[in-house]
Amino acid sequence: MAAPAGFRVLPMNATKFEEQIFCLWNLADRCNFGCPYCGYVGEWVPEPAELSAAEWIGFWDRAHSLYGPMNIGVAGKGEPFLTKDFFEILRSVSEKHTLSITTNLSWEPDEWLPALRPGRVRLHASFHPYFISHDTLLQKILSLKARGIGVMTSMVAYPPLLNDIRTYYDGFRRHGVLCWIRPFHGKYQGKQYPAAHSPEEKELIRMGGDDKAVRYQIWDIRTKDKMCRAGQKGFVLAADGSLRRCPNANEPFGNAKDPTFRLLDAPRPCPVDRCTCAALAPCLVENDAQRLRDDRYVRPVGAAGKKAPALVRRDCHSRENAP
Ligand code: SF4
Ligand code: SF4
Repeated sequence: MAAPAGFRVLPMNATKFEEQIFCLWNLADRCNFGCPYCGYVGEWVPEPAELSAAEWIGFWDRAHSLYGPMNIGVAGKGEPFLTKDFFEILRSVSEKHTLSITTNLSWEPDEWLPALRPGRVRLHASFHPYFISHDTLLQKILSLKARGIGVMTSMVAYPPLLNDIRTYYDGFRRHGVLCWIRPFHGKYQGKQYPAAHSPEEKELIRMGGDDKAVRYQIWDIRTKDKMCRAGQKGFVLAADGSLRRCPNANEPFGNAKDPTFRLLDAPRPCPVDRCTCAALAPCLVENDAQRLRDDRYVRPVGAAGKKAPALVRRDCHSRENAP
């Protein structure tokens, strides 16, 4: 099938850089927590306009036949494990793609184990201290890791939590659990974050995370008009099936229900002043050289139809979280 103007189908013998595509799948549109630093609280709808399991599975099959195995970061405005038929979706999509799922880990590991393929599904179990204790989360993480599931954790540098963050961080690391500290986005006591984080707090955030992925946020770097491969090497898929370049660049370019969907074929200028997306910011063209040099973004993969590689893109959803 011919690609529409401005789009193209990547050849299956493309270079490794071209083959490795990342999708931020914002599947969740509901949550059972209500964290004070969460920008989505109050936005949830009782019946999200989400696709059926068959529609999602059909989309991911088509994506695989066009672009090969993808690295999928599952997140969204809430908790993905509350998605209808998620068990079935997970089992099917992980046959062809690798997934790194951001979750609050409020669910019981034993119930989900049959859907969690070791080496194909990894978890980013965010720690939300107002709703789950450090010990409970740690025990769940250790139980999953003991069964071969890669799990890492993260915390938000919310000002009222800052005094305890180092203790929590050390507690995870003592048990070999990778922990990231993410900047807080929002207002607290009249100050606007993440810009208001002190230099010491910024160092704390860097200590726990990938400074490259969050540097645009914590150092307030302007991205407007910089060329970015969002939409080409990475894209966002929303719960209603719409495809967008990234969470900031609200430029829809298709829908998962459309069998003729294609990704963009070239970088485009960033349309916003500041990029706040740690997952897609590495798509900025200015990061290409680094990405190719340190192989943090790519790795040779087999042609479509072959076994997908282990997760390699070490971003906020998948970094260094091997069991
Ligand atoms: S668990 Fe995540 S999505 Fe749910 S309220 Fe907390 S920050 Fe928001
Ligand atoms: S720089 Fe960030 S906001 Fe801009 S297009 Fe790329 S991913 Fe989107």
